[in-house]
Amino acid sequence: MRRKPGNLRKLPDSAPAVFRRTLSGMGSMRSVVDYALARRATLKSVLAGRTTISDVCDAHPYLLRAAKFHGEPTDRTCPICRRTKLTHVTYVYGDELGQYEGRVKRGPELDEMALEYGEFQAYVVEVCQSCAWNHLASSYVLGTGEPRARRGRRVRAGD
Ligand SMILES: [Zn+2]
Repeated sequence: MRRKPGNLRKLPDSAPAVFRRTLSGMGSMRSVVDYALARRATLKSVLAGRTTISDVCDAHPYLLRAAKFHGEPTDRTCPICRRTKLTHVTYVYGDELGQYEGRVKRGPELDEMALEYGEFQAYVVEVCQSCAWNHLASSYVLGTGEPRARRGRRVRAGD
């Protein structure tokens, strides 16, 4: 994951169209991983009876809460219950994030963070608020590619 900033800057703006909606004009999304294949394999396993519905519709109460209050709606219908549109919940992780590590963030907040931090990882989880289906949808790296400027919380004395 640790790449030289020089390399990062050379990467083209290759974010899939689905992300351009929320991250338009930023151009710093990289290391995008799409989990569609794993998702398909999971669904196939359910259809074949090798995996039970309760195994895949096991969203933690915290995740369901996050979907309800901090999630972003999608146009995709739940592949299990087919009743509800899926919600995306995006978690952020990274050494620089401090107290924000592991928090749920939405598009505009991610845009801001991408300009503020050097590098952090975002994990997008799709969640059905009806049947509790949940699966990793994608992950990607955001940030300026430069070490974060020494400012803000870290230099605030006597906090
Ligand atoms: Zn569902």
